[in-house]
Amino acid sequence: MESVNQYLDENAQRFESEFFDFLKIPSVSTVPSHADDVQKAAEWLANRLTQIGLQPEIVKTKRHPLVYAETPAVPNAPIVLIYGHFDVQPPDPLDLWISPPFEPTVRDGSVYARGATDDKGQLLTHVYAAEAILKAIHPLPFQIKFLFEGEEEDGSDSISEYVKVFKEKLACDCLIVSDCEMFAPGQPAIIYGLRGIMAFELTLTGACRDLHSGVFGGAVYNPAVALCQMLNKVIDENGRVQIPGFYKDVVLIPDRERKQFADLPFDEKEFFEKIGVAKGFGEKGFTSIEQRWARPTFDINGLTSGYQGEGSKTVLPSKASAKFTFRLVPKQNPEEIAKNVEQYLQSVCPPEIKMELEFQHGAGGLLVSLDSEFVEIATAALEETFGCPPFFTREGGSIPIITEMSEVLDADVLLIGWGLDDDNLHAPNEKFSLACFHRGIKASARLMEEIARRQKGKKV
Ligand SMILES: [Zn+2]
Repeated sequence: MESVNQYLDENAQRFESEFFDFLKIPSVSTVPSHADDVQKAAEWLANRLTQIGLQPEIVKTKRHPLVYAETPAVPNAPIVLIYGHFDVQPPDPLDLWISPPFEPTVRDGSVYARGATDDKGQLLTHVYAAEAILKAIHPLPFQIKFLFEGEEEDGSDSISEYVKVFKEKLACDCLIVSDCEMFAPGQPAIIYGLRGIMAFELTLTGACRDLHSGVFGGAVYNPAVALCQMLNKVIDENGRVQIPGFYKDVVLIPDRERKQFADLPFDEKEFFEKIGVAKGFGEKGFTSIEQRWARPTFDINGLTSGYQGEGSKTVLPSKASAKFTFRLVPKQNPEEIAKNVEQYLQSVCPPEIKMELEFQHGAGGLLVSLDSEFVEIATAALEETFGCPPFFTREGGSIPIITEMSEVLDADVLLIGWGLDDDNLHAPNEKFSLACFHRGIKASARLMEEIARRQKGKKV
């Protein structure tokens, strides 16, 4: 073990300077003019993997490329698949950046650049860990596969297709993902649950054109009023979603887990104070952690209708629309719920109003069994590296591609992140703590070392 850590310490400087080179590539996947940069980032990564002795392939897709590499196969031994993404969010608004987004700059022990934590820095921790492990242990008694995408910030369509077609090639026992956060500085976490999501856009039409609200008001159904009335019937004042069958498959939170949530060092008062609300709101009978991590919800994300400019305008609009999402918990079925949402909204839509509902995208939630051997190994590796055991948490957000990959590949998932909650993901001045970077590399190497050790033990 000493030799692996020694190797990592000796090469720490090089890891940083290579990481900074990676950050200089503006691989923004959502902006077509940056397509070449996404390709460049793929090539950079493939080159890095070549240097650690692998033979990576850059997989062409309909959009942005994927990078795949693997260590030699070992019969009857575990396979871990490491996922990450090398594309980044657009850096706008540029004027809010203290240093330019694609000129990595170190301040107070953190490197500031777009993609620093999401996800270039976190992705590289596993590449460098693998580099050290491949130097120290040969032959490696288990297999590591790497699958990195360039389209995560833009829907992950290509990787989704690839995983389905190359299911056998990607077969693995455990999927490792570091595209997430630690519990707090110096306190690692294993995230074992993600919520699912369903996104819709509802459009209501009344008259065939905007009308004068004095001349027509009172005699014509106003679609903006209808929209408010209908949405008001989707969730009640106790935070319960009213769609029939919505809670049918929701798994109750076991008492053991409720206790575990309650024991987390989490200050609810401070949490609400920080976002400027006096008091939380949500489904009655659940704590705010339970509401965010383990209960499904409904939220309106945008409302559009009528006149929104300065002053007043007496218009009776022809159209009104809303964008809304449901967050789901594992076992809830997005397709089935989508049908129920459509039926329910039709049933509460006034006959004078024409309704169109677009189901934009959806994905189920994820819940990893804490009994998995990989959770046990990761727990020990994190504890050894950080000097304290990891917290076991769920996450209220969704990473649809991870849910999909774990289902298609039938693999355990380890969500272990090295980011911090003030890393400014998707915002100006994104950063990644260099201490987190190096500790992440060490924790990942420790994890791989332990898998190897157990594997050797089995053969004796
Ligand atoms: Zn990410």
